[in-house]
Amino acid sequence: MDALTKFKFLSDNAVLEPAEEATFAPPPPVAPCGIPLTLQDHQPAEASPHRPNALQDVGIHHAKMPGGKTIPLLKTMLTSACERNCYYCPFRAGRNMRRVTFKPEEMAKSFMVLYRAGVAEGLFLSSGIIKGGAATQDRLIETVEILRQKHQFRGYVHLKVMPGAEKAQVERAMQLANRLSVNLEAPNDQRLAQLAPKKHFWEELVRPLQWIEEIRQSQPAQRGWNGRWPSTTTQFVVGAVGESDLELLSTTEFLYQKLRISRAYFSSFRPLHDTPLEHLPPSDRRREHRLYQTSFLFRDYGFDLEDLPFTQEGNLPLDIDPKLAWARANLLDNPVELNRAERQELLRVPGIGPVSAQTIIQSRRLGVLRDIDDLRALGVQTKNLKPFVLLDGRRPTYQLPLW
Ligand code: SF4
Repeated sequence: MDALTKFKFLSDNAVLEPAEEATFAPPPPVAPCGIPLTLQDHQPAEASPHRPNALQDVGIHHAKMPGGKTIPLLKTMLTSACERNCYYCPFRAGRNMRRVTFKPEEMAKSFMVLYRAGVAEGLFLSSGIIKGGAATQDRLIETVEILRQKHQFRGYVHLKVMPGAEKAQVERAMQLANRLSVNLEAPNDQRLAQLAPKKHFWEELVRPLQWIEEIRQSQPAQRGWNGRWPSTTTQFVVGAVGESDLELLSTTEFLYQKLRISRAYFSSFRPLHDTPLEHLPPSDRRREHRLYQTSFLFRDYGFDLEDLPFTQEGNLPLDIDPKLAWARANLLDNPVELNRAERQELLRVPGIGPVSAQTIIQSRRLGVLRDIDDLRALGVQTKNLKPFVLLDGRRPTYQLPLW
């Protein structure tokens, strides 16, 4: 089978997790070593007269880079064979399907064909596990070494860290990739045992993220690729094994605060044919949306677990934005004066994000904000904030909502 056919085969059969900074959107089924997709990720790269048709459907996804630029990213795997048996995964050992495998040299060379044709600008590389996580990680690293050293590829590489990878491999991967990811899949070891019985939560999944953070803290960033240490992400499968939002978000908060991951992805469980979980119902996608919203509140808005309106079962209400729920409970009687509030107070107001908080603070040099039109003129979203703010000591007029 030639390389393009292999890419196409992998693209047809793999559902690789969302690329980079893609925003939340309806997810796909879960896939190998975790890979939730978003609509943005999953849109095939646009056809172009300069791109041969045979190259269009090989697993290219538009991905937003950390700096905001969108690039066509080849999301693929070194092999779709795997010796593990994660219950949610289409590539689990023993599942009846055709597998394809690339050698590192072949993968690197084939990627460069796509790169030179203008089809792919970056690479997202995962793999099934064969002969253990360390041996698999060696092949992933070798692929990127060939790309960086032999082909002089300086573009974007997102590399998976395999369960069972060793610390020296993680450090080497940090010298080669722009981003590394380790998918925890479950919020703790008990839940993981129900999802992926051959994976070890702390030893194989959390520990590599700890190593990465230790290295980032203890060694100069010049040792990383292009003088920077890679960012890190993870992914959870949501709703397959009865885990609560509180469990998922406790772990997410830990990852953001202690291990400084850039992003947690949440992938709603979808049953796959011929897997042990095929009899389970798919999980409610609204739940995934609330988890994303909350994880951004942790990462960008200074919220923590205690701020969230969990039900007795430890879940978030599905029918309300968690930030709006917090504001209704805390700001209706204590509105925020937009002319004086600190940044962290502004970020608690529904409709105000990091950019608009900064805009409001900067506008104070020009005068006092007196009414909603002043906010609109600054580009601030005013739809939800009126009940929770004061403008120069006065509440803006608003229609009472039907809460
Ligand atoms: S380790 Fe698990 S999730 Fe990764 S490819 Fe193998 S079966 Fe799938």
